[in-house]
Amino acid sequence: MTEKTPGNVNMEKITSLCRRRGFIFPSSEIYGGLSSCWDYGPLGVELKRNIKEAWWRAVVRERDDVVGLDTSILMHPQTWEASGHLQGFSDPLAECKSCHQRWRTDDLEGSSCPACGGELTEPQMFNLMFKTFMGPVEDTASTVYLRPETAQGIFVNFANVLDTTRKKLPLGIAQIGKSFRNEITTGNFIFRSREFEQMEIEYFVKPGSDEEWFNYWLEERRNWYLRLGIREENLRLRQHMKHELAHYARDCYDIDYLFPMGWAELEGIANRGDYDLTQHAKYSGKSLSYFNEDAKEHLVPCVIEPSAGVDRTFLAVLCDAYDEEPDGDEIRVLLHLHPELAPIKVAVLPLSRKENLAHVAQEVYAELRQCWTVSYDDAQSIGRRYRRQDEIGTPFCVTVDFASLEDRAVTIRERDTMNQIRVPMETLRTTLAAKLAGEALFTLPPGGKIWKEERKQTSS
Ligand code: ATP
Repeated sequence: MTEKTPGNVNMEKITSLCRRRGFIFPSSEIYGGLSSCWDYGPLGVELKRNIKEAWWRAVVRERDDVVGLDTSILMHPQTWEASGHLQGFSDPLAECKSCHQRWRTDDLEGSSCPACGGELTEPQMFNLMFKTFMGPVEDTASTVYLRPETAQGIFVNFANVLDTTRKKLPLGIAQIGKSFRNEITTGNFIFRSREFEQMEIEYFVKPGSDEEWFNYWLEERRNWYLRLGIREENLRLRQHMKHELAHYARDCYDIDYLFPMGWAELEGIANRGDYDLTQHAKYSGKSLSYFNEDAKEHLVPCVIEPSAGVDRTFLAVLCDAYDEEPDGDEIRVLLHLHPELAPIKVAVLPLSRKENLAHVAQEVYAELRQCWTVSYDDAQSIGRRYRRQDEIGTPFCVTVDFASLEDRAVTIRERDTMNQIRVPMETLRTTLAAKLAGEALFTLPPGGKIWKEERKQTSS
């Protein structure tokens, strides 16, 4: 892996910002933490929700051909026999310390990693799935597993969704949810943990059209990251080599991000053929075929699987947005977060705590809260308050000053340029809505004026 530091970022700065500002805490920290488990704090939970919401909007709400699903974490144990997880994960495994691929040691010829030549861990009988027991008796009959991926919940519901929605192919089913893997090696903060969240689509298509749809989803998913402001030079598509492919997979690409520790997988996109539905039909004895009205024949659809990690997207978004600028003797830390992802969209800052001013500021705050996650901050100097908002990526600050009492106008300050405009309070909500949607700051509403020009406007 190559080293890099875009925008002065490194993992230490990200973890420290996350801890300091309440994005992420170590799990059960008062007991010393639990290895590779993390808790999302007040700002983290907002950012995470925004990521999931952006994904859901792009892949479900804005499309006719994809529907949503939310399946249980515990599933019938036969699911994992059919999917291959039970057998595949109970072999003697060694993991490459460099590229983290796991190898069945009984399949290995040499003693180093066949993919990159890296050093391998000692082999151990390892089942990646967390095992637990259902009901009062702990025996093999009651053994269940925490799902290691959300995908299988989609496959086992394929017929239910088809029957109840009366949809035709191509049909996608999308799900966001927790997955659990007892990873041999964890690390790099939230990049690889044992409990994480996935955003997965299983896109079912007619056999023969799978290659075309596979290419479509590669492009679509890459564009999603770009639309959220991830820099193009920090994204790449990497095709899996033959030996990396699962035996049933026809093709697979990773969307990699250039994290501070190097290029690593954000999302995997695989052409899985008809393997999953065929396996579940075989193990359950239920038909999971699709009746093609045009040709009047039953067929087993092929599936394209774009499978993304919420936590890894979170980390990539933070790394990409992190920036530092000289600010007198200090450093201005700021997150250039896309407004759609920013945990707080607007901060309302009264210039003083005087009652008449606070009253107007509270009025503004109450109105804006109806639309967005808004914060109210009246502690310390205005400069410090701006910096606090910059550091968490708040796109706009609204300042209420003494003149506001007279002219019923307030200033809006933009995070990236620090430019300011002054607008009548009655236009504030619509003005902010336009700015959050990407309108240039100096496009003014009626009665608005440029207040302070610190820097040239950015294009966003
Ligand atoms: P890796 O090779 O990094 O272990 P993987 O190929 O096993 O990942 P997939 O099974 O393709 O991962 O899972 C799809 C997505 O789920 C990944 O691209 C990643 O974003 C996320 N993911 C998988 N394992 C973890 C983990 N342990 N922690 C956080 N996210 C994960």
